[in-house]
Amino acid sequence: MIKIFKPKLAFVILLSAVLLLSCLYANIVSVQISKFNGTTIVLDAGHGGRDGGSVGDNGTIEKTINLEYTLALKEKLVKAGYKVELTRKTDDGLYSNAAPNKKQSDMNARFKIIEKTNPNLIVSIHMNSFRDHSAHGATTYYRKGDKASMTVANLIQQSLNTYCDAPSSTAKVGDYYILNCSYYSAVLIECGFLSNAEEESMLNSTEYKNKIVDAIFSAILLYFG
Ligand SMILES: [Zn+2]
Repeated sequence: MIKIFKPKLAFVILLSAVLLLSCLYANIVSVQISKFNGTTIVLDAGHGGRDGGSVGDNGTIEKTINLEYTLALKEKLVKAGYKVELTRKTDDGLYSNAAPNKKQSDMNARFKIIEKTNPNLIVSIHMNSFRDHSAHGATTYYRKGDKASMTVANLIQQSLNTYCDAPSSTAKVGDYYILNCSYYSAVLIECGFLSNAEEESMLNSTEYKNKIVDAIFSAILLYFG
């Protein structure tokens, strides 16, 4: 009897300990996730479809790399417990093929997604281009007159300045449709210059992409923290 009972008791104690630890772990995870419950971010990959955006010195098409960065940022935010809505999920633009003005149609579709989502923040991802091929670095823009947009944009810019090759010291007011189409807080990040062959090559590397995405992600965490 004793020989049979002891292993059973040991098993029950072990099982209880495992269950207790599982419950504690589940609580820790749920507390971490619930911290961001209800915080919703719209991620907007710039351009798409027939609108490729800038083209790099070595042929990088902006719309493609914008989506790669956007999806990488989405993954991090979702893992951290944020609700994320994308405007563009594929290479395609959001315009109707029947629309006479495809750019306007595309922008209207993005606006509708933003309105429907009712987000706490909009983050639009782009790559820059300039006739002076030496121009380089990441720049963050925000919606004019919106203090929250300016605050988060400055946090993102500071983070980019720390982790990446970004010459701008402060974020700038941006005159872009995605920033001004609604009253939600919004930032637009030009992650670097495709017109600079050296930077184009860096932007295409997984290592630099992770640096930029980490910089944006950590600034968003800090903002909502
Ligand atoms: Zn662009």
